[in-house]
Amino acid sequence: MKYLLQKKILIVIAMVTIIMTTGIFLYVEKGNEYEKMNYKKFTELLDENKVEKVTLSSSPYIKVILDSGKEFKTQNPRIENFKEKLLLHEVEVIEEEFSFNSKNIISIFIFLGVLVFFVYYGKKGGGAKSAQKEITDMANIDINNDEKRTRFKNIAGNEEAKESLVEIVDFIKNPDKYEKYGARIPRGVLLYGSPGTGKTLLAKAVSGEASVPFFPVNGSDFIQVYAGVGASRIRSLFKKARKLGKAVIFIDEIDALGKNRKNSIGGNDESDRTLNALLTEMSGFNENQGIVVIGATNRIDILDKALLRPGRFDRQIEVGLPDRMSRYNILKLHGLNKPLDKSVNLMELADKTVYFSGAKLENLMNESAIIAARNNDEFINMSHIDKAFYSMLIGSEKKDKSSISVDEKSITAYHEAGHALISKLICPENRVTKVSIIPSTKGAGGFTMNIYKDKMYQTKRDIEKNIMVSLAGRAAEELVFGEEDITTGASNDLERATMLSLKLVSKFGMDKNMGLLSYERLYGNNIVSNEKIIGRVKEKVEELYEETKSIIKDNLDILKDIAKGLMEYEMLDESQLESIINT
Ligand code: ADP
Ligand code: ZN
Repeated sequence: MKYLLQKKILIVIAMVTIIMTTGIFLYVEKGNEYEKMNYKKFTELLDENKVEKVTLSSSPYIKVILDSGKEFKTQNPRIENFKEKLLLHEVEVIEEEFSFNSKNIISIFIFLGVLVFFVYYGKKGGGAKSAQKEITDMANIDINNDEKRTRFKNIAGNEEAKESLVEIVDFIKNPDKYEKYGARIPRGVLLYGSPGTGKTLLAKAVSGEASVPFFPVNGSDFIQVYAGVGASRIRSLFKKARKLGKAVIFIDEIDALGKNRKNSIGGNDESDRTLNALLTEMSGFNENQGIVVIGATNRIDILDKALLRPGRFDRQIEVGLPDRMSRYNILKLHGLNKPLDKSVNLMELADKTVYFSGAKLENLMNESAIIAARNNDEFINMSHIDKAFYSMLIGSEKKDKSSISVDEKSITAYHEAGHALISKLICPENRVTKVSIIPSTKGAGGFTMNIYKDKMYQTKRDIEKNIMVSLAGRAAEELVFGEEDITTGASNDLERATMLSLKLVSKFGMDKNMGLLSYERLYGNNIVSNEKIIGRVKEKVEELYEETKSIIKDNLDILKDIAKGLMEYEMLDESQLESIINT
């Protein structure tokens, strides 16, 4: 909207300027409209000494004033001694190179104004063109440099993401193969996760592995320009990609152009238009053509749901922070081209760098190299790395958890181990696919993934077990560290337990003391002020908490083993978890 308004104002200014300029020129012209006299008549008058004044200029006509006061204009003879001839006839000669009268000055200024306006406006348009040119140039650099292109082997960790993307590479390379089976090639892949975790790198690697051009753009490139330009940039981007046949289009920070419309007050016409252009282009690919759009975002939660529908970015891959082993591999990768001292222990460094992203690890290696170079030391040693490490910790924001202490790490480990243990023991039919103490974009602490079996109904005991799994994190903290050292890490868990218990009592009629009434229906939102109900909900949660604690107490050794495993590897998959529990 803002751009639209700006454009309108500029157009109005331009129109007014043009009209004024023309008007003034016409007025000035009119002032020059003297009666014309032919040159022969003029020479006759001259010979009769009836001419008083002549104004010479380089224009086609000269101004003549007669003794009688009459003014004329006549052909400018442009002959060499015209002035002398006039002077000999005692005519007053005025030479006008350029008259700086007020009218002319105003005209000049207005003319300059118009000129500046058009040059400026033209440049804006040209900006869009040069951005597009940049896009193609980048793509060309990549095509011609096959050996230097990013491959999956240049990315350490991110194994799950790589696995999903290998398939995309195959889609791009052999669309015919999939076409034969009537399969639709995925058009959009969304990579989401914290900054610096290698999303750009992964997208580049897809194009590198498939040997197709890479078109990197940023979501914000499409929204800071005049109305409609964003949409047309999208169209021309796709046109260019299509011209080359197969390609990977990478849109970083795609949330800039696909923000959840509900979140923006009043909506935004311009970004809607741009987003629609993108969606149209994506659904407009000929089937199985070999163009894949990869979007990246740190904020999947604010993304417009329209982007996530089938046929659009229907593959969503989380790119998470690296675990200990991945950190080691990333450090090793970025140490390859550097003269590392033999004493450097990258595994130890991987231990210390919990919550570091790939980009941060790369930066750490780079800073260490700079320090070594500054000291003119032959090799990068552990003291250089330590210096770099601590300066990075000091420089990072408080909110950043890079500086997590070992204590914190072990509390998180026990907390998550509690969830995993209870889940495995009381709901063996559920799967715990992953336990981790690395935060994901979805959860603040670590997480335990529970996949519940599909069921039409939940039994009372199912709900109670659910509550117990939620409470198990806090229960483990309390048992291991004592009542005084419990943490805030359980707040989401408690919220969940509370809501489940409330439903059990007030909606499902599953509490003997409260009977079969639907208190939820009776009281609506006022239910929280009903002391009897809330009292019952609290008792229920307390009973289940005690039950949870006693199960954990009976299995404290297993809990400790899981926590130790988490401390060491930061992430345990299902089989690792099972082998700990079963030994
Ligand atoms: P994102 O797009 O997720 O913000 P990038 O792909 O731009 O992150 O990563 C920035 C830099 O960090 C990369 O160029 C690379 O040097 C380093 N990096 C990040 N993740 C990895 C990884 N998994 N393996 C190797 N290097 C990585
Ligand atoms: Zn928890």
